Amino acid sequence: MTSPLTVLDTLGRPMRDLRVSVTDRCNFRCGYCMPKEVFGPDHAFMARTEILDFEEIERVVRASVALGVRKVRLTGGEPLVRRNLENLVRMLVGIRGIEDLTLTTNASLLASKARALADAGLQRVTVSLDALDDETFMRMNDVSFPVARVLDGLAAADEAGLGPIKLNAVIRRGLNEHAVLELAERFRGTDTTVRFIEYMDVGHSNGWRLHDVVPAAEIVAVINARWALEPVDPDYRGEVAQRYRYRDGAGEIGVISSVTQPFCGDCTRARLSADGRIFTCLFATAGHDLRGLLRSGVDDASVADALRVIWTGRSDRYSELRTLDTVDLPKVEMSYIGG
Ligand code: SAM
Repeated sequence: MTSPLTVLDTLGRPMRDLRVSVTDRCNFRCGYCMPKEVFGPDHAFMARTEILDFEEIERVVRASVALGVRKVRLTGGEPLVRRNLENLVRMLVGIRGIEDLTLTTNASLLASKARALADAGLQRVTVSLDALDDETFMRMNDVSFPVARVLDGLAAADEAGLGPIKLNAVIRRGLNEHAVLELAERFRGTDTTVRFIEYMDVGHSNGWRLHDVVPAAEIVAVINARWALEPVDPDYRGEVAQRYRYRDGAGEIGVISSVTQPFCGDCTRARLSADGRIFTCLFATAGHDLRGLLRSGVDDASVADALRVIWTGRSDRYSELRTLDTVDLPKVEMSYIGG
């Protein structure tokens, strides 16, 4: 559905989703995202004054909703390390027009936060979990964080009504391929849908190689060989995951194949970094600063105008153009612009 206010980019794509990174900090050091060698004790994270405050975030979200955004996802970094995040949730719930308000988290702090987030009006959460055995999971998060505490967070979210929960698992060749069947088995027959993500060449610090990517088709084939699957039609244009259901009625899985089957043509996502830049592609090399404008005392209409100019000029389709040469372009880190 296209509302009269919808703005389209140069390829005819509306702006429907906004991912808001509330912090560039994270308490995990996953090698594919914030490896310790790059994000070590000396790493300079953003200063407090550089980061948008909740009022500033609310203004950008309000402006984006006026231009057609319907889904807002809070992310990071790890969003739950930002203090009093539930206050931001409460502010965003007050914006008319948001149909889906969600949060992506590693769930390390979710057990103690789920109730407050649900009470504030958060609708759902997506939890990231790459393996069910501590050895693999700790090797991946690189801070010795145990699986059991993520599962506690998941259970608390479920109990607080933050479901149905989606669970994201990045699969990396030679590291956690065995987790595909284990995660599928663990969550079959539950409300939780596991979405397997192809390891992507976001940022630079992860030293991405095509060889490390386990293609979505391979993941589907592995699961299908054990429990027969059939494809499910997308719910809406721009749905990120390709969905499959178990033929025996035990629920669904999803795969996110941004490397092997890019979906730029349907990409309706904008990203707001913690320091107030708008990125129109996950693989962008630069963002558009809104913080200066927000802090210059302009009214909300001017913020919306600036966003409109950014979106109508958008032509990104990095994943469709990806070649071995583009891998070395100066892209920003995912922890910075929000996953
Ligand atoms: N800290 C939160 C979390 O862990 O969900 C939110 C931010 S994190 C950047 C968002 C998602 O991006 C996570 O599911 C993470 O696994 C995924 N991610 C990070 N780097 C990735 C990469 N190189 N390829 C694919 N997915 C990646």
